[in-house]
This record gives sequence, structure tokens and C-alpha cells, in this order.
Amino acid sequence: MTFKGTLMVRLIVYLFSAIVLYIILKGLLKGISPSRKSFDRRTEPEELVQDPSCETYIPRRLAIKKTVGGIDHYFCSKDCLEKYLRGARSRTG
Ligand SMILES: [Zn+2]
Repeated sequence: MTFKGTLMVRLIVYLFSAIVLYIILKGLLKGISPSRKSFDRRTEPEELVQDPSCETYIPRRLAIKKTVGGIDHYFCSKDCLEKYLRGARSRTG
């Protein structure tokens, strides 16, 4: 009876250590491999930019980019771009 009992305990201990080892290894592999993937994803974020003409926020990918005076501006439409350029011109003289 006691022999059977210790055998069971041994089996459980072996199983338990095997599971722990598996979890540790899995965690280590998980920690190494997806770092590259997540980095690649984060290089292209869905960044919102503000249209200085109508003050609407738009995704940078869809915005019309225009560099004015060394500063990048993003517009939701061509109309807003033209409107802004007209305004900027009249402001600077
Ligand atoms: Zn706009």
C-alpha cells in the first residue's frame, strides 16, 4: 500500500515537473520569436493627423501630405489643402 502510494507521488512529481518545464520552454520561445513580428507591425501604425484647415483628424495613410515651410501638413482633401495654402499665403504676406 505504501509502495503504491509513493509510486503515485513520484509519477505526479514527474508529470508536474514535465509540465513546468514545458511551460518554461514555451514561455522562452514565445519571448524570443514574436518580438520581430510585433516590431514589424508597429513600424506602420494607424496614426491620426489633424487637418489644419478644417481641424478634422484623419489616418495619415489617407491624408494628403504637403510640406509648407519645412513642416509637414496633412489634409483630408485637396480643397482643404488649397484653402490652407491660400490662408498661409495671405498670412505671410
Ligand atoms: Zn479638411
